[in-house]
Amino acid sequence: MAANVFITEETIEGAEDGPLAGRTVAVKDNISTAGVRTTCGSAMLEEYVPPYDATVVSRLKDAGATIVGKANMDEFGMGTTTETSYFGPTDNPAAPGHVPGGSSGGSAAAVAAGEADLALGSDTGGSIRCPAAFCGVVGIKPTYGLVSRYGLVAYANSLEQIGPLANTVEDAAELLDVIAGSDENDATTRSEGDETTYADAATGDVDGLTIGVPTELLEGADEGVRETFWDAIADLEDRGASYHEVSLPSVEHAVEAYYVIAMSEASSNLARFDGVRYGTSGGYDGNWNEAFSQARKEGFGDEVKRRILLGTYALSAGYHDKYYKKAQDARAWVKQDFDEALSDADVLASPTMPVPPFELGESLDDPLQMYLADANTTPVNLADLPAISVPAGETDGLPVGLQLVGPAFGERTLIRAASALA
Ligand code: GLN
Repeated sequence: MAANVFITEETIEGAEDGPLAGRTVAVKDNISTAGVRTTCGSAMLEEYVPPYDATVVSRLKDAGATIVGKANMDEFGMGTTTETSYFGPTDNPAAPGHVPGGSSGGSAAAVAAGEADLALGSDTGGSIRCPAAFCGVVGIKPTYGLVSRYGLVAYANSLEQIGPLANTVEDAAELLDVIAGSDENDATTRSEGDETTYADAATGDVDGLTIGVPTELLEGADEGVRETFWDAIADLEDRGASYHEVSLPSVEHAVEAYYVIAMSEASSNLARFDGVRYGTSGGYDGNWNEAFSQARKEGFGDEVKRRILLGTYALSAGYHDKYYKKAQDARAWVKQDFDEALSDADVLASPTMPVPPFELGESLDDPLQMYLADANTTPVNLADLPAISVPAGETDGLPVGLQLVGPAFGERTLIRAASALA
């Protein structure tokens, strides 16, 4: 068994039949499971047991899946390595001694190690695609609004989506078929009206597909990652696809804009964890202010505290225009650039991560370095678009992922293109 994949290993049986009957699923531990602890990888929620199921969990159960455990993750989704988890890091089954990526590292590792057939993760700025790339599996970040987030513990609502991880594109598509579509409990969701299934789109046929390669998303990439990327593009060309270079000038601001917005939303979302409404209280009996700060001091890890502090600062009077509003302007610009690039390409391709998986412990002391590793994934969340990470090969024995980005609700095109590779 790969180390530390699950925070809680408790089986939740689904219906007797359905499209996922006989399949096992790992669920990221920020997705609510009625009666089964949901910790978000935090000491704050170590004992928290939700009273209801997230919509995606009800849909899994209705589809006949068996949930085999709640997967390890960076605390509240804040990280790229799964090392900020209060429950300790997860090893990478595809590259032992290396991080599995994050924040859905336990979900990707569960699938890569064969401990679950399928997994659910959540992706705010890359948290499905990064671990998929690092563990050599497939991950889909759906279009904003395709999958219900009812029951997902929020980190940064305007950016995040729940999505599938699996060993093949077809398996990931089958799981997407089960979880996608509108939900009366999440007003941001919609059904996109196409009656064909996502699984049916996994034809592997890329004849005539046009691929745009944004030059900016290759600039910061390691040489070995770049070589593996171009090999995968050549493979797609051999099968009848064509590529041309495109430019997304705004993406140089994407990581900064993403972190300002994500931290701002996090500072507001995490206010509820005060030891009274939610979270461990530590039994402190001083005045309210002291009780709150004591609970938050003990319950949150360093990365979460750093983000709450920075997010609170960015939203405060006097700085709101300087940081938060500017980040929103950058977000609009990023969206516009993607729309333009996708007006004459079916999909955009880049390495998912500019680097191969870090060694365990390597990136922990340098948060800025870690944030920069999100250069290719965060722009997609800013633009609300769908993306898939599919294994592209290896560099020095370490997995490399290829990211394909499509227009809003263009998941079928991504699945068709990616299924030519995995
Ligand atoms: N690494 C990014 C962050 O720490 C993305 C995390 C995520 O998608 N949840 O914010």
